Amino acid sequence: MAMSRFVFPPADSPSLAITGSAERFPVHRIYCVGLNYSDHIREMGSDPGPPVFFMKPADAVVANGVAVAYPPATANFHYEIELVVAIGRAGRDIAAARALEHVFGYAAGNDLTRRDLQAAAKARGQPWDIAKGFDCSAPVAALRPASAGHLASGRIWLKVNGELRQESDVSRMLWDVPHIIAALSGLYGLMPGDLIFTGTPSGVGALQPGDVLEGGIDGLEVLRTTIAPRAAAAG
Ligand code: MN
Repeated sequence: MAMSRFVFPPADSPSLAITGSAERFPVHRIYCVGLNYSDHIREMGSDPGPPVFFMKPADAVVANGVAVAYPPATANFHYEIELVVAIGRAGRDIAAARALEHVFGYAAGNDLTRRDLQAAAKARGQPWDIAKGFDCSAPVAALRPASAGHLASGRIWLKVNGELRQESDVSRMLWDVPHIIAALSGLYGLMPGDLIFTGTPSGVGALQPGDVLEGGIDGLEVLRTTIAPRAAAAG
């Protein structure tokens, strides 16, 4: 009989699909940048400053095409289309000029947000965890390997029920990918498997059960997500 190492089987590693590959990308951590497009900073009533970082749990990732239930404890559930950068090589204190050497690939992601809980946290000076790091809060489409090219520009957009709600260009980010990696790697040791959500442009808004979201970035797989009814309370 085999010896068990754990008191119960550990959860499977969260992972992402990779365009053109049968292999999957194992997710280690999910970092996010807040307020990285000036038009979104204005609509949130904030001022530009150094990058704001927060995290989501790795198992918050949701595959392309999988429905997300309207989450509990919110009445103002928002979409945020974002470029997601996947790290393929470990590093600390990475210089911006070398940062792209650490990138495995790129994907379209949605930084789903309980906006009412975020507003309350901001007003009280509290952390954003419950507003940003909830279950199923990180839908991400397939990763495009960086061997197909890095992504410094390209249209970023999101439609809800076929209506365009967000549209910008990733070249308009205040902190570009190399500078995000440089700043983040001064705070954390980056590891293969880390994802970085790079911030959303203006046009964020509320979702309802039944909404169909499509969002993308030029050259990357389109992310499709349906919002399902709120899960029934456990009985
Ligand atoms: Mn965001």
